[in-house]
Amino acid sequence: MRKILIVGAGQGGLQLGLSLLGVGYDVTIMSARTPEEIRAGRVTSTQCMFWPSLQIERDLGLNLWEDLGPKIVAQGLTVAASPGTAAFDFIGPWDDFAQSIDQRVKMAGWLELFESRGGKVIYHGVMTSDLAGLASLYELTIIAAGKGELVELFDRDASRSPYDRPQRMLSAIYVHGMTPVPEHPEPYVRITAFPGIGELFYMPGYTTTGACGILLWEAVPGGPLDCWDDRPGPQEHLDRTLRMMREYAPWEYANCVDAVPTDARCTLVGGYAPVVRHPVGRLSATELVLGMADVVVANDPVTGQGANNAAHCAAIYHESIVGHGDRPFDADWMQRTFDDYWAYAGHVTAYTNMMLGPLPEHVQRVLGTAAQNPVVAHRFAYGYANPTDFQNWLMDAEKADAYLRSVTPGA
Ligand SMILES: Cc1cc2nc3c(=O)[nH]c(=O)nc-3n(C[C@H](O)[C@H](O)[C@H](O)COP(=O)(O)OP(=O)(O)OC[C@H]3O[C@@H](n4cnc5c(N)ncnc54)[C@H](O)[C@@H]3O)c2cc1C
Repeated sequence: MRKILIVGAGQGGLQLGLSLLGVGYDVTIMSARTPEEIRAGRVTSTQCMFWPSLQIERDLGLNLWEDLGPKIVAQGLTVAASPGTAAFDFIGPWDDFAQSIDQRVKMAGWLELFESRGGKVIYHGVMTSDLAGLASLYELTIIAAGKGELVELFDRDASRSPYDRPQRMLSAIYVHGMTPVPEHPEPYVRITAFPGIGELFYMPGYTTTGACGILLWEAVPGGPLDCWDDRPGPQEHLDRTLRMMREYAPWEYANCVDAVPTDARCTLVGGYAPVVRHPVGRLSATELVLGMADVVVANDPVTGQGANNAAHCAAIYHESIVGHGDRPFDADWMQRTFDDYWAYAGHVTAYTNMMLGPLPEHVQRVLGTAAQNPVVAHRFAYGYANPTDFQNWLMDAEKADAYLRSVTPGA
């Protein structure tokens, strides 16, 4: 069977490796870290995944934590008028549940599963200089190494990358001890938008120590929420988060008063420029590599799409590899494979980049209407799981207004 090398053991690389292994491919994954190191390492994401992505995993028998993790049934949005004051809010129910399984739990477990199903793993942090020698041993080499240094193999696509610097500074913490909201006791994601300065996310998750809550600030650089450069330890990170919540979102603070950090490495601080890259990397005149998931499309997490994108990317690449039979994996095939993925990811990128800037007036009208009309609230929430739907209404002022008229009685 065809020999495939995948560099990077994250959502994209492991899902693809496991799916190809399942149909008889000879797959080797190179991972910078062992399962033990991943479990004991720092959190990497808030990784909320929606039901179409979870179904992809379920179909591959990869839903190992489905019964353990909280089933997230809805998405709430509060838009703040000023610090501490809400202008309006709404909750959009989802058609099926989402889940956030800490990538430390999931990737460590998937690596072990990959090995137990007969996959080969080489534990080695790959350098660009290693790759030419390695790639010549395989029929296809895929780079799934996230936002690490190997992205330098792939040129930035300026026409699809409107930003050249981070649009948000990120700070996340995993906690135990959050209190359910009495009016909505079932697990749901809560987003608070502070126009001009950033967002606060809360999502229920499952981590190395069991069920947890995850709090993520998305701070506009230079604004008042951008105060994490000192990379505080977990307790100071939580104390600062609580102080900021009390000032900016007291309705969220009320649910967090008993929170404690889950573990010593439960925080994350950073930021990156959203970028789309050309998918074909050239190691030599004859040796090519194909980029996948965050390597080629790295959006800001403000819309919670990156792990979902990686799941879709892995599924699309799988189909393209298997459908190609025994033919050579040349540059044209690589470009076509990425183009199939871009047909999905392009919509996510457009939507995410729009949500990073000042919200267009028609989007403000949509959100304001969603606070009055549950049909609109539902469609907005539905789009997070099915982002290609946004092209049919939200991404275009005329289409959005026509939709709002169609669902507003008497309009
Ligand atoms: C704060 C934050 C919150 C987020 N929240 C969400 C969310 O709620 N929902 C969502 O869908 N997405 C979210 N994302 C995005 C999501 O985490 C990523 O898009 C997703 O994990 C990308 O998967 P990947 O497989 O491309 O890369 P990664 O998950 O980054 O995996 C890459 C792997 O490659 C390894 N690696 C790197 N370099 C090398 C090397 N040289 N050699 C060998 N191995 C290497 C890394 O160690 C890692 O294991 C969030 C991201 C952040 C930062």
